[in-house]
Parts: sequence; C-alpha cells; structure tokens
Amino acid sequence: MPSFAYRKCTNLAEAFKLLKEDDRAVPLAGGTDLTVGIRGGKFRVGALIDIKDIPELNILLADRDGITIGAAVSLNRIISFGPIRENVPILAEACHCIGTYSVRNRATLSGNICNASPAADAAPPLYCLEARVNIAGPRKKRTVSIEAFFTGPGQTVLQQGELVTSVLIPRPYPAGKGVYLKGSRTGSVDLATVGVAVQRRGNEVRIALGAVAPTPVRAGSVENAVNKNGETDWAAAARLVRDDISPITDLRGSREYRYHLAEVLVRRGLEQVMEG
Ligand SMILES: Cc1cc2nc3c(=O)[nH]c(=O)nc-3n(C[C@H](O)[C@H](O)[C@H](O)COP(=O)(O)OP(=O)(O)OC[C@H]3O[C@@H](n4cnc5c(N)ncnc54)[C@H](O)[C@@H]3O)c2cc1C
Repeated sequence: MPSFAYRKCTNLAEAFKLLKEDDRAVPLAGGTDLTVGIRGGKFRVGALIDIKDIPELNILLADRDGITIGAAVSLNRIISFGPIRENVPILAEACHCIGTYSVRNRATLSGNICNASPAADAAPPLYCLEARVNIAGPRKKRTVSIEAFFTGPGQTVLQQGELVTSVLIPRPYPAGKGVYLKGSRTGSVDLATVGVAVQRRGNEVRIALGAVAPTPVRAGSVENAVNKNGETDWAAAARLVRDDISPITDLRGSREYRYHLAEVLVRRGLEQVMEG
C-alpha cells in the first residue's frame, strides 16, 4: 500500500482548505472504492481528506423541495429512510444491490456517483428521478442535473477542490411503480453487467441504464415509443434500447451479450411497471 497523509475534517471550510493545499488530496467518504483503488494502484493520492464527520454532509431530510441526501450518509441509512422507501423505493432497491451489508454501512450515494463507474448501481434510478447534485467549492456553490454530472468513465464535472455536498430527489415524486433490475455474473456481490431502472410517472415511463455506455444513459428511444407513440408491445419497445446504448466487451460480458441483456431487462421492467 503506498503511503499518503490522512486528515479528518469537522467542517466544510477545513475540507476545502486541505483540498487546496495539496493537488493530490482527494475526499474520502466511505472509502469502499477509494481504498481498493489505492491498494490496486488505480488511484495515486497525496492525502485523504475524510469528510464523513462533517455535520452538514450527514443530513438526510424530506421537505417541500424533496429528499436531500447528504454526501456522508451511508447507503444503509438511505435504504431504511421512511420517505425514500415510501416515495422513491426504486432508489432503496438499487442501493440495496450495492456490495454487502458491511460495505453499505460505510459506502455513500455521493461516493457511488463521484467514482463515476458506468456501472454504478445508484445512477440509473437517479436518472429516472431526475436528481440534482449539489456541489460546493471554496468560493461558490452550484447545482447540476445528474445527467450533466457524469462526463465519462471515472469522470465528472467536479473540479479539483470541489465536493458534492448532497443529492436532491426533487418533488413531485413519481406516481407509479419503479424497478431496478441488475444483471450480473453472480447472484451475490458483483458489479452490474447491465443495470436497468424503469420508473413509471403517471402514464409515462422513464428508463435509464448502467454499464452499457461510457456514462449511465437514458433510453430515449424506448421512452419516446411508449410516451409519445403509445407503444404497448413491450418487447417491440425494448428492442429500441439498442439505439440508446454503446456497450463494450469486458470481463463482465461481451458487447453482444450486453445488447441482449439490456433488451431483456428493459422489457421485463416495462412489463412490471406498466402492467402492475
Ligand atoms: C466488496 C465491494 C462490493 C461493491 N459492490 C458494488 C456494487 O455492487 N455496485 C456498485 O455500484 N458499487 C459497488 N462497490 C463500489 C462502492 O462500494 C460504491 O461505489 C460506493 O457507493 C462508494 O461510496 P464510498 O462512500 O465508499 O466512496 P469512496 O470510496 O469514499 O469515494 C469514491 C470516489 O468518490 C470521491 N468522493 C467521495 N465522496 C465525494 C464527495 N462528497 N465529493 C467529491 N468526491 C467524492 C472519492 O475521492 C473517490 O474518488 C463495491 C465495493 C466493494 C469494496
């Protein structure tokens, strides 16, 4: 394991100061991606800036704007939070697919999106829920849509010295069922070969996929067919997902298999949410 400094922060100002002092300093939330990446040589860091005990990043609340999930909130807290289970259960379902119980005790939603794996399980539901990502830097704050947040594999709009402070699930919450379907090599702990979120909103549907493109993607062609053209043959609608994705071959599956799996999971998702 390479050596690096470790600093624990108790407020945001301290975190920004430490991130500025060393351009190889990186935020540490749950550490479930970061520590594995450091050990494996994927990340070279000068200092880990531990943000987990910053009170502002530990908020988890539902108010008139929606549900705000602080950047240090663990996945297990998200999964058991009443307003999430009640209003946007698809998010709890996807968070529950991540790792093991002990991983979810440390891991955060913000870490999942900041790591920017195209296979991040929390991302497709966040796309369907049109989540907003709140970002802060030493001088200014900004908010971006979840779709604008991801810019490529392992890449986001975050600039050095910036932190995600929270993710907002905005109101109105979707009226209708949502499902997250994860296809992976094993039934237990593994990244998605393909992840599909399908969320009904009244008579419309939103669909997003992970692990089939450089970033998570919305299935615009399928959504158009269902929402605008009134397609109710779910198999026919699901075939259109091929136009929305550009999968690669890797150790979790071939390009052809991912096309097939995406189509199957989109069809199953449509059947489950549109016919329920
Ligand atoms: C055994 C195991 C199984 C796993 N299984 C899955 C799985 O099934 N699905 C899945 O999607 N993932 C999986 N993961 C990956 C990981 O657990 C998740 O991505 C998790 O959500 C990461 O959150 P974290 O808080 O631990 O992030 P960290 O490791 O702390 O950080 C991840 C990255 O984000 C940056 N970062 C963290 N917080 C912020 C912030 N607030 N602002 C700016 N940058 C920030 C860090 O600097 C780092 O680059 C697994 C990991 C392990 C070890």
